[in-house]
Amino acid sequence: MDEVWVTMYEAAKAVLNERKISDYVTCGEVSAAVRSSSGKIYTGVCIDTCSGLGVCAERNAIFNMITNGEQEIDKVLCILPDGSCGAPCGACRELMVQLMAGHYGDVEIMVDYSVGKIVKLGDITPEWWIE
Ligand SMILES: [Zn+2]
Repeated sequence: MDEVWVTMYEAAKAVLNERKISDYVTCGEVSAAVRSSSGKIYTGVCIDTCSGLGVCAERNAIFNMITNGEQEIDKVLCILPDGSCGAPCGACRELMVQLMAGHYGDVEIMVDYSVGKIVKLGDITPEWWIE
């Protein structure tokens, strides 16, 4: 496995911190690291709220990347509560497709860190409404 995935896993692990913020908001059960095309790594955690105001760790990491002036995603990794990695939800896939319309297909996503299984965003967004 490419060393960059280890760096990304460690970055995401460093912010994985499940906690209750208020009676209505919890966060940090899932964390994510996004590597931009420049090579910088941005992290984010999930934020879960009442009334559906929360956000997934992946999108939070992508928003962090955008906040810092970048918009080209190279690689994505998220860590679930048990330490394993998983595929992004439909909303996160949709955001990545819209951000990188025309060239999102090659974004790499770690889906199983234990065996280094990587998929491409194009492979998990078949027949998407945006090409
Ligand atoms: Zn998501």
